[in-house]
Amino acid sequence: MRQKIVAGNWKMNTTYQEGIDLAIAIDKAVAEKGDKNVQVVVAPPFTHIAEINKVVNNERISVAGQNCATETSGAYTGEVSAEMLWSAGADFVILGHSERRSYYGETNDMLKIKVKKALEFNLTPIYCVGEVLEEREANKHFDVIKKQLETVLFDLSDEEYKQIVIAYEPVWAIGTGKTASPAQAQEVHKFIRDLLVAKFGETAKNTSILYGGSCKPSNAKELFANPDVDGGLIGGASLTADDFLGIINGF
Ligand code: PEP
Repeated sequence: MRQKIVAGNWKMNTTYQEGIDLAIAIDKAVAEKGDKNVQVVVAPPFTHIAEINKVVNNERISVAGQNCATETSGAYTGEVSAEMLWSAGADFVILGHSERRSYYGETNDMLKIKVKKALEFNLTPIYCVGEVLEEREANKHFDVIKKQLETVLFDLSDEEYKQIVIAYEPVWAIGTGKTASPAQAQEVHKFIRDLLVAKFGETAKNTSILYGGSCKPSNAKELFANPDVDGGLIGGASLTADDFLGIINGF
């Protein structure tokens, strides 16, 4: 069975104490009112990971990094490795977020290495794909997503591939208040699943494919009702425990 997942990407938000308080509030909300069939993930800034891992109930809430290095260790000032994330208690890592691709020049070739590193250190990659507005308007979105998937994932072994979670995030919907319609989301999610099934076979029927882009409690239900939408990667609305809970309970 496909795992339902709702993951919160906090981006570069919250001071240390604000982050711990938010994690405690999410933990309480999830324990008291959260859908028990949903795997909840929070991706705070690196500095908060170890402490948040201590304050949340690990069976219901996993902790993620928002990025990891291409290298394992060494003279790479400012980088954080997959092994460091793992040793701080992370189980997941978001890779290929559009902000990393556009502001920090992350390419599909770099992401291929990062995905491998994450898997080497037992982290589940939440690998983000998605098109910018011009690509959608030029009807190139399927080609862009195909390339993002093929370059980064298609050399994985079946064993490695099983660990992967995908997030489809149309870049024009991230933080803009514009959401893909449920039909647009389903169309791309099905395209992604078909491509993955063609390459990896039946295993890909169990791959969780999350939607991201201005997902809120008010639109989560209609997005998650689609057969190929298995949850969400949430930005802004993951910074408030109530809103995040509303999305977690959107199935
Ligand atoms: C994101 O950055 O992954 C995201 C989906 O952001 P938002 O929910 O704020 O659009």
